[in-house]
Amino acid sequence: AAPPTLRDVFLAGRAHGPKTFLVYEDDRASFEAFSRATLALADDLVRGGVRPGDRVAIAMRNLPEWPVAFFAALLAGAIATPLNAWWTGPELDHGFADSGAVAAIVDEERLARIAERRGAYPALGRVLVARAPAPAGARGVESLTDVIGPVAAWAGLPEGRLPDIGTEPEDPATLFYTSGTTGRSKGAVGTHRGGACAVLAHPFSAARSFVRRGEPVPAPDPAAPQKVALLSIPLFHVTGCFATLVTSLHRGSRLVMMRRWDLAGALALIERERCTSAGGVPTIAFQLLDGRDAGTHDLSSLETISYGGAPAPAELVRRLRAAFPHAQPATGWGMTETSGTFTHHQAEDYVHHPESCGPPLPICEAKSVGPDERDLPPGEVGELWVKGPNVVAGYWNRPEADAQVFRDGWMRTGDLARVDPEGFVTIVDRAKDMLIRGGENIYCGEVENALHEHPAVVDAAVVAIPHPTLGEEPGAVVALARGREATEEELRAFVAGRLAAFKVPVRILLRDETLPRNPNGKILKSELRKLF
Ligand code: ATP
Ligand code: MG
Repeated sequence: AAPPTLRDVFLAGRAHGPKTFLVYEDDRASFEAFSRATLALADDLVRGGVRPGDRVAIAMRNLPEWPVAFFAALLAGAIATPLNAWWTGPELDHGFADSGAVAAIVDEERLARIAERRGAYPALGRVLVARAPAPAGARGVESLTDVIGPVAAWAGLPEGRLPDIGTEPEDPATLFYTSGTTGRSKGAVGTHRGGACAVLAHPFSAARSFVRRGEPVPAPDPAAPQKVALLSIPLFHVTGCFATLVTSLHRGSRLVMMRRWDLAGALALIERERCTSAGGVPTIAFQLLDGRDAGTHDLSSLETISYGGAPAPAELVRRLRAAFPHAQPATGWGMTETSGTFTHHQAEDYVHHPESCGPPLPICEAKSVGPDERDLPPGEVGELWVKGPNVVAGYWNRPEADAQVFRDGWMRTGDLARVDPEGFVTIVDRAKDMLIRGGENIYCGEVENALHEHPAVVDAAVVAIPHPTLGEEPGAVVALARGREATEEELRAFVAGRLAAFKVPVRILLRDETLPRNPNGKILKSELRKLF
């Protein structure tokens, strides 16, 4: 059988027909209605001049129009280019200029942000604004509603047909931007096959065991009870898009969309829509625990609580197990460059090895490599190298980054990890975060975990403080739980009781608010370094 494409995934999704797919506030769209809107927009993009390989930017919050724009761009043969909805001025300029997008599908807030900057994006021709009329006098801005109508009208659109464009599995399909945690955000080009494999091999996919055995993937079973996924992380990152949205489309799950995360809204939606899965990033899982403790909502429909993208302290899975005995906790590791989930860890395996992120997906391989680029024996910490069809083809217009990262079919991740003999991967730190104090390696993650074990600590980040002779020393910023107290000295003594003396932070700054994070739940360590 030919390798799958994201077009195949779209067609499999369309086959779920009249079942409800997208739920957003009072809007509901079936798989059929979603498919009609998507084909209408794809046709309009092609007529408007979008050619295979062009970039079509998507700059909006989680709205039902987001998945329509994403698949319409793909089906038109373009490279779907999701831009971070948190970006303002210079970051947006970077996204548009770097990708050279010829068309953009945006929401009103993003339109306002780009309105006065469009001169800086010479390639950008058409802009379609969702859920709003075209503003008077704005040249080149059209209303998306004029093309596909409001969500309630999607079911009444003509059936539509796929644009007549030859799509090959190795064709570029997506251009996702990395989170920009360690530097300027880079575009990573995913192929049709890579995106499809990320979805078909995903633990939430019924196709997983077929992918493992290399058999053709059967059509999803229409009689299986429908799963209901709460989408509370942004679609413009790979986890929201592939692991949640596209997996739900393929599997026939209902996707309950939140414009952005908020705990009260999430609790109400889980209860009202009987969501079977929730999560996204560790911070969300911690907040769900608070929500459970408050006891205001019925959360008994949850079958899975999963998260990844940032380190999760071991204590999280223990607390989830106790608070949600009927829900499986699950975690994973992945990058933009691996189209999201690459390792997966759940249930008893996870509870017993809470420090690990689990083994790679069935179609993937991982190994730990030393500084001389030789493979390390199992259990030794080195740089994590990964291989698999879901790994991107390369960076967008960054030959130096490609040369640095890709090696004989493997990709260097920049993360330090151990891979044990059973293949379980444990991330110890980002190579860039690790610090060296007088020749001794200190993994920030290990020190953060120790701090997290203190009952008053809700959040902790360890960063390097420059030192004239030792090179670097560890410093920590710690957020304390509301109503709890702890002193710097007490916390230092607490860490000293768990780790070697050289790992104890020389300074601990206490805060009572949360630490600064990006939309993926990652702590912005660059901000915190400035505090020392
Ligand atoms: P940039 O590459 O632009 O600096 P980024 O690496 O944060 O940003 P992403 O691709 O969103 O961009 O994130 C991937 C990184 O997130 C991984 O390399 C890893 O450091 C971190 N990460 C992902 N999952 C986990 C996890 N389960 N535990 C620890 N770290 C994780
Ligand atoms: Mg990265």
